[in-house]
Amino acid sequence: MSTVSKKVVIIGGSIAGLLHGVVLKSLGYDVCIAEARHPDQLKAQAAGLSLGPSAQSLMETFLPGLDTESYSMSTTTAQFVAADGAIVSENRTSITVVCSTWGLVFEHLKREFLKPVSGSGEVQYLTGTRATSVQDTDDVVTVTLSALDTELVETLPAHLVIVADGAYSTIRNQLTPGVEPKYAGIIAWGGYIPESRVPPKLNAVFDGKLLMLRADGSYIITYLTPGPKGNAKGDRLLDWVWYDKCDIDSQDFSETMTDRSGRKHRVTVPRGDLSEVVWAKRVERARTVLSSPWVEMVTTSESPFVTAITNSESDKAVFFGGKLLLAGDAFIQFRPHLGSSCNLPVLQALTLLKEDQVLSHGKEFAMRSIAAGQFGMTGTYPEGYVPLYAMDKAGQTPA
Ligand SMILES: Cc1cc2nc3c(=O)[nH]c(=O)nc-3n(C[C@H](O)[C@H](O)[C@H](O)COP(=O)(O)OP(=O)(O)OC[C@H]3O[C@@H](n4cnc5c(N)ncnc54)[C@H](O)[C@@H]3O)c2cc1C
Repeated sequence: MSTVSKKVVIIGGSIAGLLHGVVLKSLGYDVCIAEARHPDQLKAQAAGLSLGPSAQSLMETFLPGLDTESYSMSTTTAQFVAADGAIVSENRTSITVVCSTWGLVFEHLKREFLKPVSGSGEVQYLTGTRATSVQDTDDVVTVTLSALDTELVETLPAHLVIVADGAYSTIRNQLTPGVEPKYAGIIAWGGYIPESRVPPKLNAVFDGKLLMLRADGSYIITYLTPGPKGNAKGDRLLDWVWYDKCDIDSQDFSETMTDRSGRKHRVTVPRGDLSEVVWAKRVERARTVLSSPWVEMVTTSESPFVTAITNSESDKAVFFGGKLLLAGDAFIQFRPHLGSSCNLPVLQALTLLKEDQVLSHGKEFAMRSIAAGQFGMTGTYPEGYVPLYAMDKAGQTPA
């Protein structure tokens, strides 16, 4: 292979970009990741991230020194609870549900990517660097990069380009215009409390399970994640995400997505930036529809954030005769109800160029994520739907 033919440029340095970076580096490619944001901007958005079986096995294979238990919590029990706190159903999940945090998975992948390993390719992780265009030029793809601070523009030739710049991918729009994330009519509110402050009544039912409380057409999922000091009992965090309907044309939506300094956000109002009025309304809603331990959990949470739930799908992942691949959310963005956002980029990183396989997996899980969200909020699945997977089965009575 010539020097040029071994070069890979990855656009976007979040989870999908890094997963591809770690795998391609180990295959001997020289890999340059270009990430538009600076590190502190990335951290502001991070919360819990669950890893499916393929993500766990990729981490075990490509990060061999890393013990899964050191960065995640696992459970095989899921429970649904009614608004008054009464247990509706409990079952064993069909897989072990592994909950970590976006920040921990990101840090471990980035460290592994940057670690010098003999026989592996050379690597670079550029921050504050935005890819502005890609061009198919004979044997290579030419990627144009722009440094956000200095406005310096450079072009890089690459044998392979992985486009992992997220659901609002500008590069995908250049290649296949018209694929846009659609708002699902749901806002996810997220927060956490230290394990030591979990209300005793909640602790009694929770007991380390995946716990879902359904109330007034909304649901809250709670789960443990490692805390800043690690994942020993007492050091962990109780993370929660509350999915609630919100009409995009309502004043409520526009108010919620406007942060405390008056800035309007398209998708996420980061931790610590929610306006006081918006949070006061959420506390009021919690007091109206949730039972008391959940009210305490929500109202005493630190740094809540909100994200408007969107999903999008491209029908095509491979461009420029196999020299450019769309990956992760830039290809298909799932709704988050199954916690399966990592599965698709993992499958893609392990099966580079197998478009049919990733397309059918992506479409199936996009549909399953929507069905699981409907079940969470209403207690019923779409007609004819057969649940298959972990949280998807959470509401079923055990046989
Ligand atoms: C900061 C952050 C925190 C997140 N936290 C969580 C979480 O806690 N839990 C969870 O389940 N999911 C989280 N997600 C979403 C999750 O990462 C994705 O749904 C999934 O892992 C697939 O990610 P992705 O890498 O395809 O896309 P994304 O995670 O959206 O990453 C896309 C990346 O591309 C960068 N980018 C965009 N345009 C360009 C460009 N032109 N040039 C260079 N770079 C560009 C963005 O800055 C971003 O870092 C988070 C995403 C981000 C960006």
